[in-house]
Formats: sequence, structure tokens, C-alpha cells
Amino acid sequence: MDGVPSARALARVSLGAVGDNCRALRGRLTGGAELCVVVKADGYGHGAVECARAAQEAGATWLAVAAAGEAARLRAAGVRGPLLTMGSLTRDETATALGADADVVVWEPAYAHALAERVGAGPPARVHVKLDTGMGRLGTADPERALAVARIVAEDPRLALVGAMTHFATADERGDEFFPAQLRRFADFAAALRAEHPGVILHAANSAATMRDPASHFDMVRCGVAVYGLDPFQGDPADSGLRPALTLESTVGAARRFAAGTSAGYGRRWAAERDTVVATLPIGYGDGWRRALTNDCDVLIGGRRHPLVGTVSMDNVTVDVGPAATVTPGDLAVLIGTQGGERILCEEVARRIGTINYEITCGLTARVPRTYEP
Ligand SMILES: *Cc1c(COP(=O)(O)O)cnc(C)c1O
Repeated sequence: MDGVPSARALARVSLGAVGDNCRALRGRLTGGAELCVVVKADGYGHGAVECARAAQEAGATWLAVAAAGEAARLRAAGVRGPLLTMGSLTRDETATALGADADVVVWEPAYAHALAERVGAGPPARVHVKLDTGMGRLGTADPERALAVARIVAEDPRLALVGAMTHFATADERGDEFFPAQLRRFADFAAALRAEHPGVILHAANSAATMRDPASHFDMVRCGVAVYGLDPFQGDPADSGLRPALTLESTVGAARRFAAGTSAGYGRRWAAERDTVVATLPIGYGDGWRRALTNDCDVLIGGRRHPLVGTVSMDNVTVDVGPAATVTPGDLAVLIGTQGGERILCEEVARRIGTINYEITCGLTARVPRTYEP
């Protein structure tokens, strides 16, 4: 059919928006701080390789991922430049990260020694030391120990001390007291570290911290969510000068008249209260459109909002488009994005089911093709 997307469900990603968001973030940076763009989890569901390239073109000088396999996939696709693997690594993953010429994070002397053994005759492993200032996941909570690890790294010719980092637990909770406390802890450590190792790159801020407090910028910020035009504070990204990069579309697969009392979907969790028209869209939780959205979100069809009704199933959802609707198979449906004058933000979808925008885009499955636009 002409004009009908070939995909049953489609995520359109605007690389122009990714670039604009990178430029907007860079415009906020203080003291010459660099932008490291986080493309873990396949670029928060947007596509790591394409978003990495767009970010680099827009001035991001570093990239970061969580897993060594993600670093290897970026390199295999030809992505160059400084790349940080932020997660804890198994022995095999350590080899993968080094093979991908990715920097690794270290906080234990034992791991520093094991890493040095792995390097052999290759180029020195590039290391970032991690201080846990309160996230309580990775890193050492003891600044003296972090300094000791930095010394081990700096003195071993098989290792290169490149950076030092921490990660904030509550940067996205405006006005909380824990964030400034973490920031002070890192700043104290950073001063001591700098005195011994002047060239080390200090980095702490995620998107929320970057936007919330310039004092958190140090030499580099690590932004993920904001790069994709998602609001770290779960509000409207436009208020922060960000533009959502992802549009999630489907098409009407069937449009049928329902007499009052007719039910739709598994468990009959919705029935028409009046005669109406119900559109079936070929998208479901198999695509990442979460089952918790059953009877609890809107979809844009024909430039207007309509309620999703009935149970979200693996492959389909049903939408009550109203008795007067002139909806026909092949019509475009927008689940995240704009149509006509209407807009559905990822943040709205997330709020309805008690989660955050990150989880919605990361949750889109491989069955949803991603297409890229300038
Ligand atoms: C994911 C991650 C980031 C990016 O966080 P956003 O909130 O998406 O900006 C930064 N640093 C670390 C250590 C992370 O794990």
C-alpha cells in the first residue's frame, strides 16, 4: 500500500535532535568541560552506533557504555575516539574491553594488578579510578583507597591513569541534600588526586547533575538521557531546551464497529459503553509496549488523542477511536511523538505506569525497526 510504512511498528530516530541536544548540553558546560555521551543499552533504545556518530559530529569528544560487548560493537561498526566502559567487568569482558581499545574503571588494587597482567605486551590499559561518594554500587567509598589505586595505576607501565569519577544517586531529585554532599566528597577527593596526578580527567555529572549544577561539571560530564531529548527530571524536555529524538509509530491494522457491550482483548478488561469504532494496532508488549499500559494510555490517530482500551497483548493493542471516526487500515498511529497539534511524551507514558522515560525507550525490543532521519 502506498504511503504505509512497511513496519508494523517503527521507531523513527531524529539524529538532528540528538545533535541539537548535544549542542544544547555543551552550551551549558562550564570551565571547558567536555561532553561524554552515554550510548549504553543501544543508546537507550535509540541505536548506539548512529547516535554515537551524531553525537561526535555535534562535538561530543567521549563516548561511554556500560558493558565491554557494547564497546566492541561500537568499534566493529567503525566508531572511533575515546570510549569508556563504565561497568564492572568479568575476566572475559576485561579482555573484550581492552581489545576494543576502551578505557576501564578500577577501584580495587587486586583488579588493577589483574588488569596489568592482562595487558601483556599491548599498549597500556587506560584506567579511570572510581570513588563511591554515595551511589552504593561500584567504586570504593574510601578516598584513601582510591588514591592508593591511582598510585598503583600511575606507577605501573602497563597501566595509564586517565581519569577519576563518581556517580550521583539523587541528581534528578531537585533540592535534595544528598547531591551536594556527594559533590563535596568528590571535590575533596579530586583536589587530593590532582595534587599527585595533575593531568587526570575528573568526571562526575550525569544529565541531571549537568543541568542542575555547574559545579558538578569538572573536566567532563557523562550525559545519556538528555542527549536523546528525554527529561532527566521527568517533566517536559522542552522546558530544558531538549528535543525528543524518538517517535514511536504503528499503523491501523483493522478498524471495526463495536456495538455497545462488545469487549476487546484478553480477559475482557474493556467493553464498549456505546456503539463505537475500535482500531487494532499491530504493536504490543513483544515490541516493548508494556502490558501495564492496559486501559491506561492514549494513542494519536488522525491528529487526535484516543484511549488505548483493553489488554495490551504481545502483538496487538486496541484503541477506541469513537463512533464518528473515519479511521481505515493503514492510517498512521503515534504512540510517542506528535501528530496534528497533539503530543504524547515518553515521560507521560512512563508516569502512567510508575516508571521513568529511560525504561520506556530501553524497553523497545529488537522487533521494532529503528529508522534514522537527519
Ligand atoms: C548511565 C550512566 C550515566 C548517564 O546517566 P543519564 O542520567 O542518562 O545522563 C552516567 N554515568 C554513569 C556511571 C552511568 O551509569
